[in-house]
Formats: sequence, structure tokens, C-alpha cells
Amino acid sequence: MEDEKAFALNLAIYQGADLGDYINFMIQFRSSLNALKPADVIALEPIYTVDLVEQMQQLLPNLDPREIPTFESFAYFEPADVFDEYLEQEASKGKGAFIEAVWIVIGKPKLYNLVHRAWTEHGPQTLAPWMKLAQIVLNGCYGQKWPDSVFQVPDSCPICLTPIHWPQRTQCGHVFHTRCLSQHLDIYTTCPLCRASLRDP
Ligand SMILES: [Zn+2]
Ligand SMILES: [Zn+2]
Repeated sequence: MEDEKAFALNLAIYQGADLGDYINFMIQFRSSLNALKPADVIALEPIYTVDLVEQMQQLLPNLDPREIPTFESFAYFEPADVFDEYLEQEASKGKGAFIEAVWIVIGKPKLYNLVHRAWTEHGPQTLAPWMKLAQIVLNGCYGQKWPDSVFQVPDSCPICLTPIHWPQRTQCGHVFHTRCLSQHLDIYTTCPLCRASLRDP
């Protein structure tokens, strides 16, 4: 899994003299991360971003904003478009399995990379502020505006016959991939299934 690969890589590349302390920290961090659950009540997105940036700046003052772990873009792409088979496979299960997979593939690896960077640039770290950051990141992962389909078993697209995780619903009530429907509407003006006019949205 991506999270375990990132963990192993960040152990292997550490070059500080305090390698033993670093390894102990990373092992503790990993077991805390693996046990972490999203909060019962998740803050709205703007609050989440403020908390995240504040906590990141405390731990890594020179941080490039691009390294801040966010999940927003995943709420807009079909899982198949992000080139990760595991994400695609988990999305097909519904019931939020996709969100768990995003945390494993994107969230935890980013946190391991950030911990490595903090030890390299700022020396030994303590677990509590890193777990606070991890909790904010995990809550942010669950708090995205995920489509309802993330919690259901997906339909298949009548145009390309593959699963639709992020359905586009027409006025006539039929669902397609956003991309498949817009390609169809480049040529036609009617629903591919029932031929209702889709010209006026
Ligand atoms: Zn399709
Ligand atoms: Zn239709």
C-alpha cells in the first residue's frame, strides 16, 4: 500500500545523526496514524483550511503551500482518471471505502514526507502536534464535498459501460459520466437513453 511504501522510504532516506530517535518516532507515528479515526463532528471546509495552515506553519514554517495535504481535486475526478487502480477498486465498493483509500494513498504518505522534512530541517519532533495535524488532515479528507455516489455502489454508464462514481444527472433523470455526456452533447442535443431534449439546461 502507498502509505507503507512512503513510511519505508522515509525511514530509508533519513540521514540525521539521531537516526534511532527518528525511527522510534516514525514507528510511534505510524501506529497512531493507523489507529486514527475521523472526528464525530467535522468542521466546515474554511475552518478546516485555517486550522490546517496554522498547524502546518507551526511545524514547518518554511512550507511551500503546494505541500499542504488537500483532497479537494479528488471530489471532481472519476477515480479511474487519477491512475490508481486501488482508488478505482475501492470506489466501486461504495460505503465510503473510497475516502479511506484516499487517506491511505494520499493523506498518510504526505504526512510521512512532512515528518521526514521536519526532522531534517528542524531536528527532533514530538508526537502531539503531529497527531493534531494528522487529525485535521483526516477530518479534511472526510469533510470534502464528496458526491453521494461515494457512499453507494456505483451504476454503470450507459455510454461507455464502465462504473460511474461521480454521476452527471440529466433533467430526464438519467445518469452518465460527465465526460461521456458532454462528448455526446457535442454532437447531439438529446439524452442518449430516452432522447429527451437536453438543449436548455
Ligand atoms: Zn461513461
Ligand atoms: Zn433521458
